[in-house]
Amino acid sequence: MSPAEIARCYRTSRALQRYLDGEVDDPTAARVARHLQRCRRCGLQARTYRAIQQALRSGSRDVDELALRRLRAFTRSLAEPDDA
Ligand SMILES: [Zn+2]
Repeated sequence: MSPAEIARCYRTSRALQRYLDGEVDDPTAARVARHLQRCRRCGLQARTYRAIQQALRSGSRDVDELALRRLRAFTRSLAEPDDA
């Protein structure tokens, strides 16, 4: 991954939760949506967030621990080069 791509992923991951909650403005929503289509890692993160939101809405008390671990691993992976 290039530094520019990592920066995009980082920005997207920061906006992702608000995007999924419908709280971002239109340009940001368009940017996030475009990135999610192109970036497998961020797409996976978006699915994970949605799964957590669904679990919370459905009244489940224990959010999938695996999903949370995946999210943390994703956030960590952004700070590390892919091919180290
Ligand atoms: Zn990404």
